[in-house]
Formats: sequence, structure tokens, C-alpha cells
Amino acid sequence: MTNIPLIQIQQLRKVFTMGKQKVIALAGIDIDIPENSFTVIMGPSGSGKSTLLYLLGGLDRPTSGRIMVNQQSIESMDENALAQFRRNSIGFIFQSFNLLPSMDTLRNVGFPLWFSGISKTQRDKRAMDLLRTVGMDNRALHKPTELSGGQQQRAAIARALVNNPPLILADEPTGNLDTTSGLGIMQLLSDLHRSGRTVIVVTHDPRMLHFSTHTLYLLDGRLVSEAEYTAAASMITQVTQPEENPTP
Ligand code: ADP
Ligand code: MG
Repeated sequence: MTNIPLIQIQQLRKVFTMGKQKVIALAGIDIDIPENSFTVIMGPSGSGKSTLLYLLGGLDRPTSGRIMVNQQSIESMDENALAQFRRNSIGFIFQSFNLLPSMDTLRNVGFPLWFSGISKTQRDKRAMDLLRTVGMDNRALHKPTELSGGQQQRAAIARALVNNPPLILADEPTGNLDTTSGLGIMQLLSDLHRSGRTVIVVTHDPRMLHFSTHTLYLLDGRLVSEAEYTAAASMITQVTQPEENPTP
């Protein structure tokens, strides 16, 4: 391990243009994220959380600024290098799980390995091992529609681990889950952190802070202090608190 942060974000800016209107999703932010940290970025709806995570994961390009991962600047990678970076370095977990509905759990989890030309036997074996890790081996042959939200998210986490990435990015991973399943998912992410991975979660779920080693606060595309966030969030939640919406 080195003293250089695993991730260095410098003056990161993302502006979306819709017709004549410009939306400043990220207003030029600087963040250092240490290796082996569990970093939680808190922010209300619309604060730029997904934008930040997508840029970090190489799923979108910044308007300006730099993102260095392992001292490699990802904003200057070409599409091939970026695809390789995503495949080898990043495990992405989404609020809405993003499992493929036509495939059973086992195939969903093993699917990313298909792109690396790995045989079906090997894919199934690796997927089964990971399903065991997340406590889902008894659901291997179920389709996503036959799983609860919490179970779908466990499967999605197994899928995110299939290429053994050092960096896990999770976008509101508990946002669509009931309280208990959400807690289970946080525990699972915490286990991944303890097993040596760097985990970054963006969320507005304050329970996530029980697991974090580092916390940042995002408001309107800017990093703010905890005090400023708490003051603003208490007003915002009254207006935008999403309904508890557990998937069956
Ligand atoms: P969060 O994930 O915190 O809810 P987002 O990163 O999704 O916030 O969005 C931040 C801001 O950028 C919002 O105002 C949102 O409407 C805007 N935004 C996000 N994605 C796009 C897009 N593809 N086109 C236009 N505006 C966008
Ligand atoms: Mg979002």
C-alpha cells in the first residue's frame, strides 16, 4: 500500500446541456479516496451522486477536470482502455439491480465473464462460488422476477464481484429495499471492505455511516461540511423523501 490515494479527483466538473439550459451536476470538486477505505458520499436527490459515480466508473466522461485511479487518468483513456478499466477494476452496483430478466441468477452473475471468453463451466463455477458468498446459492436457478429486492441486490453484488475488481462502486444500493434487506446489503458491502476492497457508496441513507471509514457530503454538485449538509438535508428531506418502496 502507498500513501498516494487510490483515487484522486481534481476540479471535476460535469455540465449537462438540455436545449438551451445548462445543468451543472458537478461544479468542480476535489476528492482523495484512500485505498481500502469504505467511503460514503451522502447527498440528497439531484445533488450529483450518480453523475460522480458514473464518471468514476468510466461510464460517462467529465466536462473538465481529472480522475486518477491508481495514478492512471481515466478521462484521457480511449474507449478500449476504458472498457478494460471497467471490466478489470470496477464492480458497479445499481439502485435498481439491473439484472437481465430473461436469465436465471447463475447466468446473470456469470454473464460479465462471457466477454472475457471464459467457458460456461468456468462461468457457472465462479458464479456459484460468489452466490454462496452472498448467501444466494439456493436461488441460483431462479429468475430475477422470482427474487425479492434484497435477493436481487445480493445477486447484483455477486455479479459485480465476478471479475474480482479491487474497487466497488454502489449507487444508492439500498434505495429500493425495505429496512431489513437494506441493512443486510450494507453488512455485505462492509464485509467486502473488510476483505480488502475499496468501497465507495453514494446514498442518502444515513445508516450507511455506521459502516464508513470516510464520509463526504454533496449538495448541488459541491462538497460541503457535515454541518452545512445536516442543516440543508433536514429541509430537503421534508420535500423529497422517497416513499419506502420495497420490491416484492
Ligand atoms: P443524484 O444521483 O444525486 O440524484 P444526479 O447525478 O443524477 O443526482 O443528477 C445531478 C443533476 O444533474 C440533476 O439536476 C439532474 O437532473 C442532472 N442530470 C443528471 N443526468 C442528466 C442527463 N443525462 N441530462 C441532463 N441532466 C442530467
Ligand atoms: Mg442518483
